Amino acid sequence: MAALPRFFSVSAAGMYKQCPRRWKHRYVDKLPDPPGEAAVVGTFAHRVLEILCDKDSKSRTIEEAKKIARDIWPETENGSDFKSLDLDEKKQKEFRWKAWVAIEGLWGLENPSEVNVLSTEKKISATLSDVPFFGVIDRLDQTSKGTAVTDYKTGKPPSPSYKDDALNQIVLYAAAVGCETGNLPTKGRLLYLGKDSLELEVDISEELVAKSTNQFAGTWEKLKDSCENDNFDTQVGPLCGWCPYAGICVDGQKEIKKRLAAGRMRTDAPALQLI
Ligand code: SF4
Repeated sequence: MAALPRFFSVSAAGMYKQCPRRWKHRYVDKLPDPPGEAAVVGTFAHRVLEILCDKDSKSRTIEEAKKIARDIWPETENGSDFKSLDLDEKKQKEFRWKAWVAIEGLWGLENPSEVNVLSTEKKISATLSDVPFFGVIDRLDQTSKGTAVTDYKTGKPPSPSYKDDALNQIVLYAAAVGCETGNLPTKGRLLYLGKDSLELEVDISEELVAKSTNQFAGTWEKLKDSCENDNFDTQVGPLCGWCPYAGICVDGQKEIKKRLAAGRMRTDAPALQLI
């Protein structure tokens, strides 16, 4: 029997839903899951925007963001995550450019000098429908209509059919803020930064919170069942190509090869290096 985690995050729930076996390798076996380039770019961009939004509103300019990026670059450059990417000089330049496009993308969606920021990188834990939830909220803002939960994304925006799934995360964050403060935020916002910048927003309501927390609890129940029975099935799909455990997963390897042969797997998928 595998031990249940003390807390359940949105990303852990997403991983379990994508593939229970991958979740087990990550959270039970605690096998390494090194961040890829996109994740390290995202971490750097988030850090710059966190420092920027902690400053007084008038200082939140593009020039200030550039200065922050320059100041904290050595911290990233010398970090183990960046070093493990093993990028040559040209690729490092591309990395910095991708990060800057994401950072600058914020101004395409809002003027940060006009935002009333209450907190950044707020760690929050709450019991949501009996599930021990934990998350980190990129930004909590005060608006004329109440508080707004804002989350930055540096990946591609979701296709229309996955929009509600993406917004589900922000509804759970809002629910946790509501539990902690007694006041439910009125708005949830996902800011997709970068060249395909896009804002997705949702009006938070008690009904929506109930729907999202019930879904979250449903995933938690399935996870409990998996842990009790030590049964973590594989669930193959296109994301096997980005799974760090493909090298030890027979089903995943078969799936990757099948997709590759059919031209349905990107030839730069990182897992190709593992099989
Ligand atoms: S390779 Fe695919 S099936 Fe195997 S653990 Fe990873 S995601 Fe799951």
